[in-house]
This record gives sequence, structure tokens and C-alpha cells, in this order.
Amino acid sequence: MSLFDQAHTYPEIRSEITRLCAGFPGEYWRGLDRQQAYPQEFVQALTEAGYLAALIPEEYGGAGLPLTAAAAILEEIQRSGCNGGACHAQMYIMGALLRHGSDEQKQQYLPKIASGEMRLQAFGVTEPTSGTDTTSIRTFAKRDGDRYIVNGQKVWTSRAEHSDLMLLLARTQAKDQVAKRTDGLSVFIVDMKHALKNGMEIRPIRTMMNHATTEVYFDNVPVPAENLIGVEGKGFRYILSGMNAERILIAAECVGDAKWFIEKARNYAAERVVFGRPIGQNQGVQFPIAKAYAAMRAAELMVADAARRFDAGEDCGEQANMAKMLAAEASWAAAEACLQTHGGFGFAEEYDIERKFRETRLYQVAPISTNLILSYISEHVLDMPRSY
Ligand SMILES: Cc1cc2nc3c(=O)[nH]c(=O)nc-3n(C[C@H](O)[C@H](O)[C@H](O)COP(=O)(O)OP(=O)(O)OC[C@H]3O[C@@H](n4cnc5c(N)ncnc54)[C@H](O)[C@@H]3O)c2cc1C
Repeated sequence: MSLFDQAHTYPEIRSEITRLCAGFPGEYWRGLDRQQAYPQEFVQALTEAGYLAALIPEEYGGAGLPLTAAAAILEEIQRSGCNGGACHAQMYIMGALLRHGSDEQKQQYLPKIASGEMRLQAFGVTEPTSGTDTTSIRTFAKRDGDRYIVNGQKVWTSRAEHSDLMLLLARTQAKDQVAKRTDGLSVFIVDMKHALKNGMEIRPIRTMMNHATTEVYFDNVPVPAENLIGVEGKGFRYILSGMNAERILIAAECVGDAKWFIEKARNYAAERVVFGRPIGQNQGVQFPIAKAYAAMRAAELMVADAARRFDAGEDCGEQANMAKMLAAEASWAAAEACLQTHGGFGFAEEYDIERKFRETRLYQVAPISTNLILSYISEHVLDMPRSY
């Protein structure tokens, strides 16, 4: 019996995911990690089983499940030792299209995204010069008859080489020409194959973990005007509405990571004998694991609350941000406890700990860093003065 069988929501989905993930053991991920290669087979298996279409309504061929179910899927993927970061965005990026796209756009793209025929899992927001200050992005889409011409550069555009479409945020009006800095930003669907033949270039970035992330350059790339989502200049609002979903789902992944680390640490502590007794008999070994467990459980409750609010259509900015922060911290505490419990063996590739350790560290920086969440709570929840 697993340590975490009290996991409540969607038990059938959880056990199906566990079964699917068993086909992708540590050695599969270690091999990819060495090559920084994309887990095609894993993503294909999830696609075929319909999990990446969990949030797409049934009328477009998806499963029409709530965010709570998507959170259970991603949590179990991580708890099984796999890496949902390779494809989690295929679940939620389409939310901008679903909530703000026209009927024609939804008909054109959603059924293909649901079937896996098309991947929409690249999200071009971050730029090298603006960083977290999204309204200062410089990539510009200039209207030219029935198309826009895009120039600029994105960085950290993950999965761009494994996506048919990109959701792109660009300025359509300069920042100094709009009343509010959040105005004048627009969202487009970019057809990657077409763009690659017409001035777009993708350059992979090697990172400390295998994340298929890239820089993307736009040099006079034409994008049809019909690919604009919603109203020109209102794109910032559209991406904000998707960010809560993204934060909740990534928080669920962190809870899954924390469970993986805690289980691994607890098992090793029970079996490793030093000085004639299991190391887990020492409270110095037990306590960091117990602490990480408590932090994970607290984060798990916050994730559940945030997801429930999201599904009910309630405001969930506060809860989504706190869930993301608490879960990322819990997964890191669990990673740290797991590595320390394993002593030298924690550093050996074959235990998978060092790989998961590198992977889970990301979530204190992306998709939003802890400082920015604290700043959100200070300003928007506690009503303290805006600091930037
Ligand atoms: C592997 C990876 C994958 C990613 N995938 C994507 C993707 O698919 N699409 C995409 O658009 N982006 C992606 N990102 C970008 C990610 O969202 C950003 O890295 C993140 O938002 C932080 O921005 P930055 O790196 O520019 O840091 P900066 O904004 O330069 O900040 C650097 C540090 O300063 C702190 N800081 C900045 N301003 C303040 C302030 N006012 N108060 C306190 N602290 C502050 C930050 O918290 C951070 O710790 C990815 C990043 C990584 C590393």
C-alpha cells in the first residue's frame, strides 16, 4: 500500500496514470536526460489515452473534465517519477483559445488539439530584456492589411520544437502610447511550420534539467489577422485568466514530486542500516522527512481549494498563487530531505533523485518566481503598497 492512499480525488484516474507511468521507468528518463531528448513515447501515450485533452469540452472532442481532475493527472505523473513538464502545457494553453477565441477558431483548432493531431504547447511570453515585467515586452506585431508582421525575441519558450502552434503575446501598441501598461498587448496563434519558413528561428537552450526550452526569434514573420485571439490590445487579460490554471496545475505537479521524494526517502531510511540500525531510527533523519510531509499535505489542501474555486468559477488568484508557492517549497524541502537521507547514493544517477532534484527546483522560478507571488499577496491580498 502506498503512503498516499488517502488521496481522495479521482482514484480511477490516479490508478490508470500510475499504470501508464509504470511503462516509463527511471531508466527511460535517465536516457533522455543524458541526451536532453524529448519524451516522445511518453507524450504519445498520454495523448492516446486522452489525458492531455482532459480540459477540452466534450463538444470539441476532449474529456470535459474539471481542473481538479487535470491536477490529479499531473500530480500522479510526478508521483510516479515521470515528468509532466514535457507536455503539461498541452492541457492548459488552449484555455486562452477556449475562453477568448472565436467560434471559428475553436472549431478549427480544438478538435485537433484534443485528438493530439496538433500540439499547442508553446507559450511565448517571457523575453530576455523584460523578464517578469511582462508589460515591458518588446516583440511587436504590426498590422499590415490582412496580416500582422511580427518582430522580436522570446526566451524560455519551452517545447517550441515540439509544438505545431504557439500562443504568442506581442505588443500591438507601444507601451508609451497606451493609457494603461496592460493595454496594447495582443495574443496570437502562430502556425509554427509556416513561421519557421517565414522568418522565425528556434534555438534550443541547454539547461540543468531536460526541459526542451528554447529562444525564438521573429524577423518579419507574417501572421494572418484571423489568428488574433479576441480583441486587439486586450491580450494581457486573456493570458492572466489562464495563469491561475497554470499555477494550480504546476502546484499539483509539485505535490506529486514531494510525494515521490518522501516515499523514496522513507523507504530508504527504513532499509539502510548504519551503526547496526536503520538510519530512519534516528530523529535527525526522520524529522526533515516528516516536516516535508507536513508541508506537502498543507500545500495539497491549498491546491485542492484553489482548483475547487477555479472549477466553481470563483476568484482564485490568491489561492492559485499560494498553492504554487507552498507546493514548490514543499517539493524542494522533500527533495532536500530525500537527497540528504540517501547520503552519497543520492548523487548517483541510477537513483533518479538527482534528476528529480534538478527538475523540481524549476518551480520556484517558473512560471512565476516566489518573490512575485509574495508581492502579489502583499499588494492584492494584504492591501500593502505596490512595490514596483
Ligand atoms: C526552464 C524554464 C522554462 C520556462 N518556460 C517558459 C515558457 O514556456 N514560456 C514563457 O513565456 N516563459 C517561460 N519561462 C520563463 C519564466 O516564466 C521566467 O524565467 C520567470 O517568470 C522569471 O523571469 P526571469 O527569468 O526573466 O527573471 P527576472 O524577472 O529577471 O527576475 C530575476 C529574479 O529577480 C526577482 N525579482 C524580479 N523583480 C522583482 C521584484 N520587483 N521584487 C522582488 N523580486 C524580484 C525574481 O523573483 C527572480 O528571482 C521558463 C523559464 C525556465 C527557466
